[in-house]
Amino acid sequence: MNETPEPLINDEYTGEPPSKRLLARLIAERERGTGMVGIYCAYAPVELIRAFDLTPVSLCAFSNATIEAAEEVLPANLCPLIKSSYGFILKDTCPFFALSDAVVAETTCDGKKKMFELIAERRPMHVMDLPQLPDNPGAIDTWTAMIHRLREFLESTFRRTVTIERLEQAIRDANTKSRLMNRIFAYAAMDPPITGWPELFDMLTLAQSVSGSEMASLLDHAVERLERRKTDGHVYGPKGARRVLMTGCPVGGDALKVFKVIEEAGGVVVALDSCSGMKPYADYIEEDTGDPVRAMAARYLKIPCSCMTPNTRRLTEMDRLIEQFRPDAVVDLVLQACHSYNIESIKVDERVQKKHGLPFLKILTDYSQSDIGQLRTRVEALLEMCP
Ligand code: SF4
Ligand code: SF4
Repeated sequence: MNETPEPLINDEYTGEPPSKRLLARLIAERERGTGMVGIYCAYAPVELIRAFDLTPVSLCAFSNATIEAAEEVLPANLCPLIKSSYGFILKDTCPFFALSDAVVAETTCDGKKKMFELIAERRPMHVMDLPQLPDNPGAIDTWTAMIHRLREFLESTFRRTVTIERLEQAIRDANTKSRLMNRIFAYAAMDPPITGWPELFDMLTLAQSVSGSEMASLLDHAVERLERRKTDGHVYGPKGARRVLMTGCPVGGDALKVFKVIEEAGGVVVALDSCSGMKPYADYIEEDTGDPVRAMAARYLKIPCSCMTPNTRRLTEMDRLIEQFRPDAVVDLVLQACHSYNIESIKVDERVQKKHGLPFLKILTDYSQSDIGQLRTRVEALLEMCP
């Protein structure tokens, strides 16, 4: 089958880069009077934001273009995600920040925490104190209290209130979105895969700020198209392509160079275990418990981020993903100066090689293109090691 299959997302969304389409949608929403809340992390409780009829807007940046400006203020030896995000704000060129009426932040890694202090004057900001020992008995109480404090912040900033019913509805919507996303990811798990990343990445970019109900129709169309591809014999990637599971730091923009290198080396990325990939959809929030805020807190504390200790869920989640996606190799992408993901890579390496007998590669990189040649050599060597 050589014909190009239909794109996964509706025609009305195609033709432009996903970030531009997302921006156009947000601007239209803003013109209709919708309030917007900037977020930087998968721990931001987006269901609460949506229950207030506000739109969450991701402010994480993945572009090399603003790093130089950021380094005039921030240390060069800092994670590129933080530098890039800060650089956009410093240059006043982030359209997503411009749309945000307020910002929600969390105490995750040190770099982000200190960057939040530098931008705190620019927008009303609320910092949530994230417990970093998620299995401690008090962690759930602390995080529940933090979500309540965010509720109070949103109430006073946007001068509106939220009901339990609205919260329960927002939870049901989020669960619907996650179920649909997981249905789509299942097509990448097929052998051979019917879809893969970066195609899925485009869809996820758009999904970030789309409500559960709108996403439902978008994803229903995608499922129809995937079914048609299956029937017509379209597969993603070349015949016999090595299947790669990517894990680690969030990726996007200029860091997508790694997808390109893997595909050029004859591989296909079938799973993206990161916060810009499948992680936010990996679990569901318990519905109709009578205490929706606590139910949210319980789900958020299960996110396996390396800022948590111990982060054992990352390893058990890796087992589940390997079973479902059957990769031939695992790539752990670590952004430069991200110490927690860098150190945790030792445990991921052990798990992948000892328990699953799969080749493993840690890639330490930033948003520049200067290491492409070296990446290519290392990825080719990895794929040659595949059984
Ligand atoms: S990797 Fe951790 S700190 Fe970064 S977005 Fe995900 S949960 Fe937040
Ligand atoms: S990639 Fe690492 S250092 Fe960068 S913001 Fe995320 S947790 Fe922090």
